[in-house]
Amino acid sequence: MNTPILYLDHSATTPVCPEAVEAMMQVLRDGYGNPSSRHTLGRQAAALVQKATEQIMDALGVKQGALIFTSGGTEANNLAILGRAEAKPRLQGGTILTTQGEHASVEAPLAYLQQKGYSIAYLPTKEGVLDFSVAESFAAKKMLLATAMTVNNETGAVYDIKALSQYVHQHFPDALVHTDATQGFLKVDCSPQNTKVDMLTLSGHKIGAPKGIGALWISPDVIKTRGLLPRNIGGDQCQDLRSGTENVPGIVALGVACEVGKKQQKEKNEKMAQFRLSLLEELQNDARFRAVTVLTPKHPAPHILSLAIPGLPAETLLNFLSQKGICVSAGSACASNHHQSKASAALLAYGVPEKTALSTIRLSFDGTETQQDKERFLSLLSDALTFLYRRR
Ligand code: PMP
Repeated sequence: MNTPILYLDHSATTPVCPEAVEAMMQVLRDGYGNPSSRHTLGRQAAALVQKATEQIMDALGVKQGALIFTSGGTEANNLAILGRAEAKPRLQGGTILTTQGEHASVEAPLAYLQQKGYSIAYLPTKEGVLDFSVAESFAAKKMLLATAMTVNNETGAVYDIKALSQYVHQHFPDALVHTDATQGFLKVDCSPQNTKVDMLTLSGHKIGAPKGIGALWISPDVIKTRGLLPRNIGGDQCQDLRSGTENVPGIVALGVACEVGKKQQKEKNEKMAQFRLSLLEELQNDARFRAVTVLTPKHPAPHILSLAIPGLPAETLLNFLSQKGICVSAGSACASNHHQSKASAALLAYGVPEKTALSTIRLSFDGTETQQDKERFLSLLSDALTFLYRRR
């Protein structure tokens, strides 16, 4: 008999919600027009994109600005950072403010810009809190952009993006603020109306839409001041900021996933937060788990809990759990091909010791987890401590 899967890796990707599958199938079957075509089918496709845009903006809690559809969070982050860096000649070679331990799709464009002569400044994130006490040292900088994620995908810490916007807009009027809300969207309040960011990244496959669709929201100000240059040129789609025929089925699915996600948001988030808390309490109070370290950020997202058996490599624990049907992550899923034996920058910046960082696994939830799921996970973790850890 096959062991049933317990999927505790929703921050890596989510199953596609049935409503999004249905809507996407319908477009694949019938709605094949090109939104740029002037005839009936083209206009129908354009209307589908428009409807999805409204659903996504509604879920985001914003009425103005524009959505630039991308292939996902990675492309949206690249567009925000590289597109901003080139937009204003007078800001070229300037400074970008960020945090240690952003997702690779932010880190890599920043590393590329650094090679081109830009400088990168870092806000500390000890215990998952953006620390502005070092901010004075940035005062003389020619700042063109600040970019920080809404929820850290490894620690589950919610960053105070509103405070970041306030700080940056007050001290650096030329700079735009971007947040990678790939992990935060629909989990925490990330409405640009509230946080006052200029650009926001979201990704479909973290919220019940398929892989390969995402968006960069940009504010009316970014549009008006032409604060961003495109990375893809050769058509006039998406306000001229991302050429290429739109992925209409993906966009429709993203719209529907947003509408469904928004309706379920409150209830799901409460369930995830409760599950996270009850798991955390057991790990902290049950003597069997004395050797386990759990990350408890000051402001935790409801859906992420990271933990370690210090000294036991994360990969070993992940494989042990996987053999028993439980799916979790070690480090960020995207980085796992490259940095297996390197401690995660996000965990180190949080203040996790290197040995613990190398042992850290991440559980991430979707609100459907049960008491039985919790017991199954804890029982296997206890086995791991007995058979893998104490035997070493
Ligand atoms: N940013 C964060 C914080 C992520 O967790 C991910 C996905 N692991 C991405 C960006 C990249 O998104 P996508 O997979 O849609 O390219």
